[in-house]
Amino acid sequence: MAEEIKKEEKSLNFLEEIIEEDLKSGKYKSIVTRFPPEPNGYLHMGHATSICLNFGLTKKYSGYTNLRFDDTNPSTEETEYVDSIKEDIKWLGFQWKNEHYASDYFDELYEYAVTLIKKGLAYVDDLNADVIAAMKGSPTEPGTNSPFRDRSIDENLSLFERMKNGEFPDGTHTLRAKIDMAHTNMLMRDPLLYRIKHAHHHRTGDKWCIYPMYDFAHGQSDSIEQVTHSICTLEFVPHRELYDWLIEKLEIFPSRQYEFARRNLSYTVMSKRKLLQLVTEKHVDGWDDPRMPTITGMRRRGYTPESIRDFCDRVGIAKRDNVTDVGLLEFCVREHLNKIALRRMVVFDPVKVVLTNYNELPGQTEMLTSEDNPEDEKSSHRDIPFSKELYIEREDFMENPPKKFFRLAPGQMVRLKSAYIIKCDDVIKDETGAITELHCTYIPESVSGNDVSDIKVKGTLHWVSVKHAITAELRMYDRLFKTEDPSKEEGDFKDYIDPDSLQTIKTVYAEPALKKAKFDERYQFLRKGYFTLDKDTSESRMVFNRTVTLKDSWKPQPSKGG
Ligand code: ATP
Ligand code: MG
Repeated sequence: MAEEIKKEEKSLNFLEEIIEEDLKSGKYKSIVTRFPPEPNGYLHMGHATSICLNFGLTKKYSGYTNLRFDDTNPSTEETEYVDSIKEDIKWLGFQWKNEHYASDYFDELYEYAVTLIKKGLAYVDDLNADVIAAMKGSPTEPGTNSPFRDRSIDENLSLFERMKNGEFPDGTHTLRAKIDMAHTNMLMRDPLLYRIKHAHHHRTGDKWCIYPMYDFAHGQSDSIEQVTHSICTLEFVPHRELYDWLIEKLEIFPSRQYEFARRNLSYTVMSKRKLLQLVTEKHVDGWDDPRMPTITGMRRRGYTPESIRDFCDRVGIAKRDNVTDVGLLEFCVREHLNKIALRRMVVFDPVKVVLTNYNELPGQTEMLTSEDNPEDEKSSHRDIPFSKELYIEREDFMENPPKKFFRLAPGQMVRLKSAYIIKCDDVIKDETGAITELHCTYIPESVSGNDVSDIKVKGTLHWVSVKHAITAELRMYDRLFKTEDPSKEEGDFKDYIDPDSLQTIKTVYAEPALKKAKFDERYQFLRKGYFTLDKDTSESRMVFNRTVTLKDSWKPQPSKGG
């Protein structure tokens, strides 16, 4: 028993350990986290990791998570992104408690700034940003105090108010914290708190022309919302000192910041800026291109929320940057789809089979039946029409097969899935020698489910009835990039795009049950892969995306340097 408990404790990630400690010591009665996207792009797999982490923790430790749009930068944010972010979080299966916008706190943040000025802890600087940067010093040399650093509190209050009132043009003044220009942490050398930006804001309109910097908005917003554990990625480690300093000096709710490693995935890029380039330069078909690592792209490709959550659980979180193998994500997708996908037969590259001994009665069709999903005990069934002329896959026939070719060949027998055993008698060719038809006989006693033929065959093929088949277009997606970490390669990451990452098959032949395909259903095309209906489907044309292959047909390239 003791060992079992130990094992469980060991499997806690470092954040769970911290939270359990905080709850045990009574520091908090319950926990609050937030997911703080900047609405300047669509969410990607990295965000999904952060969502699963933030919402997962409050689910496990019964607290709640807020959604907070970090919209402090007026020029980039758009409502389109706000909507897509909400849709993506819900689709992933999470519900936030409160929806907030950092811009809702602009009044409070302004008051906090005034408080700092009154405490002699902030001042208005007339130097421009370049000069301020030049005077910051270096990690080994201290910076230089601004000549405006020792302004009186009254002068600072008045100047700051005039900044707010729009009396100064962009870039002429800033508000800076008064900390220490020789601090070992460069971010503590009188960091900027406010800048002037005469820009329209998507929510506050033209009310403000001064905007708080990230460091002066984030921790304060956390505090206003009484966030207990503010989780962010490792690049914010140096910001933590300033985060704590501001909270301490303002004497507000003590939120704490914790950092974990960004999620990177192999064979893709995961920065909104780079993804935006792919979209605007038309390397992909929009943010929801099924090759994009965006949540909307993965959704269109047919990934399920369950599989993405499973992936996040399996990888866990790290304290050091690393690249996760996208193969693991694909594995999780395959695992889930195997459980839920409806099985359908689709022939990609047909050759016609004529059953010479099959008699069709006029106006009558023989209906066979098959399980929609053999992995599901309570599986529903579908009807599959059978007839004299069928399509099978061209590659499932060989005229001169090698040993151990268990598919169709002259004189050889195979089973047609959920139907009969057939035997190939004759190969019909045109004048060029190309095979046009395979003449076969079927064994009437061998029908699946009631096979009394006593014939044993090793191969089972998928097929469709020629006259009942419907057609569809398939889009076969592969990884968008040829190299594992395109951002780390020489030159432009876009040089490493795989031009063959989308292969379209214009016409395939499918069993008629697929006519009723729905967007929220997943399909396994037998022996072919997992597919989902694409939004480009219309009355006259069905389009399916390949979500993932059935097995891992992909092998890692030998890595550089051995
Ligand atoms: P990008 O660099 O792609 O623009 P970002 O960090 O600027 O990403 P935000 O919208 O600011 O994007 O991020 C919202 C939240 O998601 C933040 O808490 C951020 O730390 C987290 N996040 C973003 N990218 C990743 C990632 N690759 N792995 C884990 N968490 C991430
Ligand atoms: Mg950002």
